[in-house]
Amino acid sequence: MAGRFAPSPTGPLHLGSLLVATASYLEARQRGVPWRLRIDDLDAPRAVPGAAADIMASLETHGLLWDGEVDYQSDHIDAYEHALERLGELGHLFYCTCSRRQLRSGQPYPGTCRGHRAARADAAIRLVVEPEPIHFVDAVQGQQQFYPANESGDFIVRRRDLIIAYQLAAAADDGAPEIDHVVRGADLLDNTPRQLYLMRLLGLVPPEYAHVRLVTFADGSKLSKQTGAAGVDSQTAGANLTAVLKMLNCAPPPDAIGWSCAEILRWAGEHWNITSVPSHAAVIERN
Ligand code: GLU
Ligand code: ZN
Repeated sequence: MAGRFAPSPTGPLHLGSLLVATASYLEARQRGVPWRLRIDDLDAPRAVPGAAADIMASLETHGLLWDGEVDYQSDHIDAYEHALERLGELGHLFYCTCSRRQLRSGQPYPGTCRGHRAARADAAIRLVVEPEPIHFVDAVQGQQQFYPANESGDFIVRRRDLIIAYQLAAAADDGAPEIDHVVRGADLLDNTPRQLYLMRLLGLVPPEYAHVRLVTFADGSKLSKQTGAAGVDSQTAGANLTAVLKMLNCAPPPDAIGWSCAEILRWAGEHWNITSVPSHAAVIERN
């Protein structure tokens, strides 16, 4: 059994991703299972050179030491293609040639290309989503019910540029027998039903989920490079950890000022309770 932290190499670790990494780390430590690091590097056009190394260096400075080798999604493409083949054999896939202009963003896919079952070049591959509810219990967000047919509709599993979509890659990786729990940001909560749907079709056993609070600016925007969020400063690692632990409702005692990251994390590991993490966003000031 294991947990994992799965950053995309699109920029440095900022306070929001440090919060997710810390929560994920503490949950795995408390369960006494390995904590894996997976780099979600399939979307090569969005990858920033050096970002993966940067994220790893930040994790290490904060004492968030992962177990075993770093796992790169780009090393699993054969497994994803194999999963695609199985879905195709089961009759769940079709080739979509709709242009972005034909599709209304925020609306479920209208089913236009459902009849295109034979392979075509220059087409995305979509999954037929049957009208069924998906239920799961999230350790932070509580009982969830989704209806993917009306939300995403038939979603993309391989893009037109042949890149495996996040939903399929995440379902295959998080459905692996070793992964028994997933801690990630609440921005991904509505992706989970699509991944559960895929896991069901692929006969994979889903992990337990906890979608922890986001860190946002006062205007509600998520921390990211686009919104001007800085990477965490490695000079203030202990203070950064203390700040995210406060947001996780696991604030170290006042005399923790001066503790090393390892000491802070050891203390937090003894006081950690994922169910007391707030579900709503933590708001910080832009600096
Ligand atoms: N790599 C994606 C992200 O950083 C997914 C993370 C996940 O599934 O935990 O948003
Ligand atoms: Zn289409």
